[in-house]
Amino acid sequence: MTTKGKRTQAVHGGTQRSQWGELSEAIFLTQGFAYDSAEQAEARFIQAGPDEYIYARYGNPTVAMFEKRIALLEGAEDAFATASGMAAVNGALSSCLKAGDRVVAARALFGSCLYILETILPRFGVEVVFVDGADRAQWEEALAPGARAVFFESMANPSLEMVDIEAVATLAHAAGAVVIVDNVFSTPVFSRAIEQGADVVVYSATKHIDGQGRALGGVILGSREFIRGTVEPYLKHTGAAMSPFTAWIMLKGLETMDLRVRAQASSARAIAEAVSEHPKVTAVSYPGLPTHPQYDLAQRQLGGAGGTMVSFVIEGGKEAAFAFCNALEIVLISNNLGDAKSIATHPATTTHQRLKPEQRASLGISDGMIRLSVGIEATEDLVADILGALSAV
Ligand SMILES: *Cc1c(COP(=O)(O)O)cnc(C)c1O
Repeated sequence: MTTKGKRTQAVHGGTQRSQWGELSEAIFLTQGFAYDSAEQAEARFIQAGPDEYIYARYGNPTVAMFEKRIALLEGAEDAFATASGMAAVNGALSSCLKAGDRVVAARALFGSCLYILETILPRFGVEVVFVDGADRAQWEEALAPGARAVFFESMANPSLEMVDIEAVATLAHAAGAVVIVDNVFSTPVFSRAIEQGADVVVYSATKHIDGQGRALGGVILGSREFIRGTVEPYLKHTGAAMSPFTAWIMLKGLETMDLRVRAQASSARAIAEAVSEHPKVTAVSYPGLPTHPQYDLAQRQLGGAGGTMVSFVIEGGKEAAFAFCNALEIVLISNNLGDAKSIATHPATTTHQRLKPEQRASLGISDGMIRLSVGIEATEDLVADILGALSAV
């Protein structure tokens, strides 16, 4: 789908109006639905048709509008919305796995994703093998005995290392595995994950989709068969449904997401270039810069974009990183990302604190590393704030 198509879908896709013709999407703040007759109730429990609802844990009109809109944007047949990004990750994995299955996953994962793969799934008899996501040979070796699923973040947190969706999907499909991609850092704006071979795409809607720090949410996208046949039965009975009010927030978020994310990515590039030249910065990771080790892959996978995140290392370890954070005047210290407000995170002492030092080292997380989520403030103000804070180090 072209960029123009995506932007139009983001505003109009999936909208269903009531008899009042409301311009803005309605919030159906209801958990239940009344039937015209006992016969209608019986028929709906046998087989609910499209636009027929039973209970909000199974589905709700506002939630369905969000699901349709994000599915159109992503180029997926269908979607299931969840209460958080983690409910989406867990739903995608747990709904299709059983004891005795084998999963191959990239090692560089968001902390809670790592917990599901490393701690929870093995408790239910699922074998999980970890590989270095950028190393094709490791995927090939780990997938040789076959696997039920493959899981990775297309752009890893906080290293911003890329995984080649097309290459891994080819290996995974030959091994009989379903390819599940956590695509948060790539964003729905730059993603073409499904046409590149992903079977299932998962987003934390908390990030760029809301993009304004208001609500937790998540979504699983895939084929109609996977979403309605595998994911829906699992989620509707285990309860991680998205609330109608959250779905409304996410619908409104999608309307402006393209504008926000492109502005964020454009500032992120300017910031990455500015910090690259700073004497106190020893390393910069931004997939849109030719200095990124996987620049060509990033260009291919993200359609020439570089994303909204920049990671860099300040000389002087934790002390220097803290001095930098404390000297920022516009950029906030927090751990969210994808927000309209720019955010600096010190992964070693916050998001990745729980890991052992050698695990952090293997993920490229040093004590001087800062992860920046670039917001929509004026680019020149952000560059000045960041360079000013660097000079305070
Ligand atoms: C934030 C995030 C999640 C979890 O999403 P929540 O909405 O916080 O539950 C999963 N994966 C990645 C890559 C994330 O950034």
